[in-house]
Amino acid sequence: MAQIAGNLQRIKNGQRRYAITPRIPAGFIQPDQLQKYIDVANKFNAVLKLTGSQRIMITNLKAEDVDAAWEMLGMEPAYMVSNRVRSVKICPGTTFCKRAKQDSVHLGMQLERKYLSQEMPSKMKIGVSGCPNSCTESRMKDVGVIGTVEGWNVYAGGSGGAHPRIGDLIAEVATEKEALALVDRIIEYYKANAQIERMGEFIERIGLEAFKAAVLGDLEGAPTEPKAAEPVVNLPGHGNDPEVEAPRLEPGQPITPDTIIRDIVDTYPVVVPVLQSIGMGCLGCPSSTMEPLWQAAEIHGVNVYDLLDKLETARKGA
Ligand code: SF4
Repeated sequence: MAQIAGNLQRIKNGQRRYAITPRIPAGFIQPDQLQKYIDVANKFNAVLKLTGSQRIMITNLKAEDVDAAWEMLGMEPAYMVSNRVRSVKICPGTTFCKRAKQDSVHLGMQLERKYLSQEMPSKMKIGVSGCPNSCTESRMKDVGVIGTVEGWNVYAGGSGGAHPRIGDLIAEVATEKEALALVDRIIEYYKANAQIERMGEFIERIGLEAFKAAVLGDLEGAPTEPKAAEPVVNLPGHGNDPEVEAPRLEPGQPITPDTIIRDIVDTYPVVVPVLQSIGMGCLGCPSSTMEPLWQAAEIHGVNVYDLLDKLETARKGA
């Protein structure tokens, strides 16, 4: 892994200590990955701190231990420089929360995959909440999306910090597709026209009505990525959304919980015995092979991540 610097922390007794913060998409982390944080903390006498952006910071590291810590983690940093999309904070939504009105994880993961670390005129934070309780403080983000009974409310221009600002409601839309298209327009317009200023400062400089006039319109007709290029959410429970067609699996691409069984079999026939070992004797059946991996794992009573480990081992060993 390339060397990634840590952030210098408060100097105490003349000693310099550093913090590193790996990326945790949507704040979901697997137990084996969590174990690596513990291993790093124990090995380097570090301290773990939960951050406000749904991450775990590892601090109190000596400079000479920073590279080794990244090596042990095998994770990407949350961000490298400041004028980028810094975080997409996503609440559990309909995936887990009983109050949810919309699937914030599905929408938020698409934004995370598309925008995280993209260069912007200034730093940008995005928040996605599954209901108006807004547990991710979406109206305090540069771009915020909040699920409602009717659809999604899209906000822009919020921020915390020394100059807090509540985001402006840009539009209420009915579908996830419209919400994504509007977020695209907001971000593209900001990228093309803002100076070195946060989204809220930009809106105040040009005026809310001018901003809305520039980004609103026929959202169904808004230019969006073709479906085949749309990102896919890597979480169990989200592979069967009819609006997001999973891409075909190209040779060399890793298998994920959302990968369709048919694609796994077509691209990596070497892993078929692994699927058969969990009782999948139905690999010739079109309806069963159109299922995503997570669903097959659920039906056959196995943990999808255990199955994924075996499939990836078989694939890489081929
Ligand atoms: S914002 Fe709503 S859906 Fe999301 S965690 Fe909070 S209460 Fe649940």
